[in-house]
Amino acid sequence: MSVKVCKFGGTSMADGNVINYVKRIIDGDAERKYIVVSAPGKRYSADEKVTDMLYNCHKELIERGDCKKSFAPVCARFNSIIKELNIDFDISSILDETLKRIEEEKNEDFTASRGEYLCAKIVAKVLGARFVDAEDIVFFDGNGILDEEKSYRAISTALHGVDRAVIPGFYGKGFDGKVKTFSRGGSDVSGAIVARAVSASVYENWTDVSGFLACDPRIVASPRHIKSMTYKELRELSYMGANVLHSESIFPVRRANIPIQIKNTFSPEDEGTYIVPSSRYIPSGNLVTGIAGKKNLTVIFIEKSHMNAEIGFIYKVLGVLARENISIEHIPSGIDTMSLVIESSFLPKEKLDKVLSGIKEEVKPDLVRVLENIALIATVGHGMSSSVGTSARLFGAIASADINIKMIDQGSSELNIIVGVKNEDYEKCIRAIYSEFFKP
Ligand code: ASP
Repeated sequence: MSVKVCKFGGTSMADGNVINYVKRIIDGDAERKYIVVSAPGKRYSADEKVTDMLYNCHKELIERGDCKKSFAPVCARFNSIIKELNIDFDISSILDETLKRIEEEKNEDFTASRGEYLCAKIVAKVLGARFVDAEDIVFFDGNGILDEEKSYRAISTALHGVDRAVIPGFYGKGFDGKVKTFSRGGSDVSGAIVARAVSASVYENWTDVSGFLACDPRIVASPRHIKSMTYKELRELSYMGANVLHSESIFPVRRANIPIQIKNTFSPEDEGTYIVPSSRYIPSGNLVTGIAGKKNLTVIFIEKSHMNAEIGFIYKVLGVLARENISIEHIPSGIDTMSLVIESSFLPKEKLDKVLSGIKEEVKPDLVRVLENIALIATVGHGMSSSVGTSARLFGAIASADINIKMIDQGSSELNIIVGVKNEDYEKCIRAIYSEFFKP
């Protein structure tokens, strides 16, 4: 029998009633054997996620030596979930034990991971499934990167012959033996790791939306639903801000050609979005698959005559950024120019000044200019590379909307074209691109 791995996000865990929907989904398909869960998310827009509450606990613990005050709302949240589920489960002693360990360990990752831990305990009880702690099966190496082979081996051993198991997402064990988390939203990555380890037929990622839309519905009303896309398109779109799925989730499943299906817990009959290898991609007939973007970037523009002939120029510039521990989004370049596109939050004033003086010292440029408040917009589509005139249509649409393009970058995969515009033109630019490629 083939096996499906299901990951349920925070909104699918938000309260006891929703956890009962999850039970119905799992009970409805015997192949849904392994379930990875996030911590309870928001029940309504002003609500707080349990993970955010736990980060507050750590803050209080460091500032005051204990975190009883901040832990109280976490307890209240789990107590109400148990009440809504109406199950016989002694959550109080698990919560007491958890608080004790949080105060002993004083480890931010450990504290943050407890939302998933507690939630998985509850869901395992509800489903009558085995609880398997992520701490015992997901491992990081000495560089803080997932130790894939060790984790896959441990997961398949732990799940061998287990009919149904619930595993907390978001964390594993670090090289130092302590709990370590992925970046925020990392339960998606945990689900992908489990799917890979058990060679699942599909990795179902259950959220509160029926899959990906061609662009942000807050910018364009009712954008087109994306039925299917490739791993590469997903990576581009999610990295550029389409936040349905963590952008790292594709790596474990991609190498084993396991498709990801985005599903909606609140509307389980909807088909969702399939994410598949390029070889299994069924073209939608549309040139562009989706449009995504992000605001608040800074561009450092560097000009120097004969830059092309100066061996090691780019290497030296990047060395300055590496020394300041700053990651770079894009590096569009010309013969005598190069630009560094960096998230503005990485460059507070003193850091920016240090970077600029470092660049001036290292490569003696003719000119260095800083452009702030830049937004990047990626137009992504598998079919774009093989079609003549795609960029002409894209730039034509942006020009017709009277928007000045500050920067252009086309990845060598030709899967996407990225333009940089002023923050204030971001929404208008997305609307212009959308209507060019999607309106009948
Ligand atoms: N609970 C974690 C977060 O809020 C991880 C996750 O939900 O995937 O980021």
